[in-house]
Amino acid sequence: MRDDAAFLSGPPASRLAALRDAIGRADLDALLVTGLPSIRYLTGFSGSNALLLVSAIECVLLTDFRYEAQVADEVAPHTTVKIEPTSLWAGLWPSIAAIPGVERIGFESAHLLHRDFARLLEQGGRWQWRPTADLVEALRAVKDPGEVAHIRRAVAMAEQALDRTLSVLRPGLTETMVAGVLEQHLREAGSEAFPFPSIVASGPRSALPHARAGDRRLELGDFVLLDFGAVAHGYCSDITRTVVLGTATSEQRTVYEIVREANVRASGAIRVGMRGLAADAVARDYIDACGFGDAFGHSLGHGIGLEVHEAPRLAKTVEAPLATGMVVTIEPGIYRPGWGGVRIEDDVLLTDAGAEVLTTFARHLIEIA
Ligand code: ZN
Ligand code: ZN
Repeated sequence: MRDDAAFLSGPPASRLAALRDAIGRADLDALLVTGLPSIRYLTGFSGSNALLLVSAIECVLLTDFRYEAQVADEVAPHTTVKIEPTSLWAGLWPSIAAIPGVERIGFESAHLLHRDFARLLEQGGRWQWRPTADLVEALRAVKDPGEVAHIRRAVAMAEQALDRTLSVLRPGLTETMVAGVLEQHLREAGSEAFPFPSIVASGPRSALPHARAGDRRLELGDFVLLDFGAVAHGYCSDITRTVVLGTATSEQRTVYEIVREANVRASGAIRVGMRGLAADAVARDYIDACGFGDAFGHSLGHGIGLEVHEAPRLAKTVEAPLATGMVVTIEPGIYRPGWGGVRIEDDVLLTDAGAEVLTTFARHLIEIA
């Protein structure tokens, strides 16, 4: 869908300028970018086969003939596009050689196959190759207003789909059928894709934090946990709600209220400058104090953007402070094996004026009559 001018002109050149600063600080002359979401972030190109070389003066995108029309449509004017007839790697070496003064080149250690690393050593042996970590990811962690607008759109799509799905939830449907309904509604809301296979976990299966939808049939009295997202202009939302089919027991209500309170406390406390571990602790300490510390086994949240899991992380070990423009999930949970589990996940934008919870869907316990 091409309906906004910002998208048509590709991403702003400021992203490339910021990366060039980072390349300089890393004492490199250039960076070979092989992670596709990062290539999309820097150039606008959303195809599935590309290499990107960024130096102080050049930004060269190599792809193949299948993408000739797409690349012309998507790519920002600051990018030099090369359509390679055979292999992208064969085209890479002359592209580097054409740039004066390039000796030390970084590669993305998290996004380079070993077989391609061998190519760098064998065919690209005239340059010095240095591993790098998170040079582009660190930039991607901070969203600009255009990116935030796409995430807001993805949140709205997910909430619309959830609303429609809850209205048809009933005993006897399998989890897979519910996931199918949810994904149809996501598509109808305009979602380009699914950030991950939608999770629908019912009854005791809701205690599995990363359950897939399976063939279990929903029963009266079940917790039904739905964790899913939408994609708008490449940007993901990620939302979880847990509902009860029928009337909740007092035990279900108690556990739900603890998770809800942990979610609300963390969303209310998170702010720019706070460290990831401090944000995590707000929810974790509360769940701990309620006696369920062992039942919250995962971290509080993660960044969302072109990928559904990206920087920053909100976890016990993360010292780095949160910055303005980051969009993170807040997703505390309590999981009791054999009984069930509750997770409530919201998407939150950090601004200088405070945290804005982008997710507006009800957080109180919904009982499906
Ligand atoms: Zn999720
Ligand atoms: Zn998540």
